[in-house]
Amino acid sequence: MAEKIKMLTPLVEMDGDEMTRVIWKMIKEILLLPYIDLKTEYYDLGLKNRDATDDRVTAESAAAAKKLGVAVKCATITPNAQRVKEYGLKEMWKSPNGTIRAILDGTVFRAPIVAKGIEPLVPGWVKPITIARHAYGDVYKNSEMAVEEGAKAELVVTGKNGETRRLIHDFTDTGGIIQGVHNTDKSIRSFAKSCFDFALGVKQDLWFATKDTISKTYDHRFKDIFAEMYENGYKDGFNKAGIEYFYTLIDDAVARVMRSEGGYIWACKNYDGDVMSDMVATAFGSLGMMTSVLVSPEGAYEYEAAHGTVTRHYYRHLEGEETSTNSMATLFAWTGALKKRGELDGLAELSAFAEKLEKAAVRTVENGVMTGDLYAISTLEDKKKVSTEEFIRETEKNLNG
Ligand code: NAP
Ligand code: MG
Repeated sequence: MAEKIKMLTPLVEMDGDEMTRVIWKMIKEILLLPYIDLKTEYYDLGLKNRDATDDRVTAESAAAAKKLGVAVKCATITPNAQRVKEYGLKEMWKSPNGTIRAILDGTVFRAPIVAKGIEPLVPGWVKPITIARHAYGDVYKNSEMAVEEGAKAELVVTGKNGETRRLIHDFTDTGGIIQGVHNTDKSIRSFAKSCFDFALGVKQDLWFATKDTISKTYDHRFKDIFAEMYENGYKDGFNKAGIEYFYTLIDDAVARVMRSEGGYIWACKNYDGDVMSDMVATAFGSLGMMTSVLVSPEGAYEYEAAHGTVTRHYYRHLEGEETSTNSMATLFAWTGALKKRGELDGLAELSAFAEKLEKAAVRTVENGVMTGDLYAISTLEDKKKVSTEEFIRETEKNLNG
């Protein structure tokens, strides 16, 4: 066997939960370790270890990502009441992704993996749509409470020159709920910067939308910051690259996206990006075909699959049943991280291997060998549904074939 490909700086490896943890191990053992002298700084973000470390491991892994620059993350459980019981947790720990995003700041770019035979549900979408999701604040960093009947809710801001109050609602004849959300000019600026830079990098138009007609201060601030940064820093570059920046209202954007042919970056506020990326991923084929990378303003990259831990498949796996879970997005998280590491460390061989591995996985699907999620939608005539492991083994054959 040829000599293994060398690495210089380790990747930050964030292991996770359930079916994706099973896939994680297979990818490493079958597709990476035999070919690469894999260097990683390992953090176990599996729920058991998060609980054992009082979730310190999550913050530590994010700090490592900041320091080393490139991380690869497995999907993780975000605990709810049922999970607290299932795992006997000390606390309902916060979403690891939320914690990591809060530490790294930045923007999440999600793009579908395109393969022949997996046709988008929207026939007009001939090019991929990349969703750029703002990864900080709004409803993900909220403060909310239930309010009893008869209460009066106000926003109170204590500034240098005293207090400002705004009525939220007088709950005179019924109780209800309230929520306080925030964002910062700094975070919105770095969101805009990542989007403009990313668009220039891939030479695609950038779309952005909010609800500034209704939210005249909050959403309007996003619109203004984007506009100001575009006018004062990016307009010339965009003109030279032959691309455009386009702003509209979020509902108008949705309508235009459906009618578009794809091939642009769609920048979304945090919640819009959460929802729209699942819609776009599903319409492009499967959640198992959506990649995700968090780009921090300081230039740290964290790669992951956009989907979760595929719990339903995992429970079947535990019962000893054979699963057919798509490993593409998790594999592309690894290859994305390895390519970036190769680029940053000047290791062309490492980047080339990652690229070759991606092509081998896509070729496997295009040759008609695929997991159940793709089998259900593939337009290929000659197709075969294979198990989780068979798909990875077939990809290995294609890698060497
Ligand atoms: P999910 O794990 O994404 O799975 C939802 C469904 O989508 C699956 O049941 C499966 O459908 C299909 N699916 C998703 N990924 C697939 C793949 N790779 N191959 C084949 N089918 C796939 O979402 P969930 O069930 O709502 O959440 C499960 C756990 O993941 C939760 O504990 C949640 O907190 C966590 N989660 C983590 C992340 C993250 O770490 N980034 C993101 C989302 C959710 P069928 O069952 O119909 O086959
Ligand atoms: Mg989501």
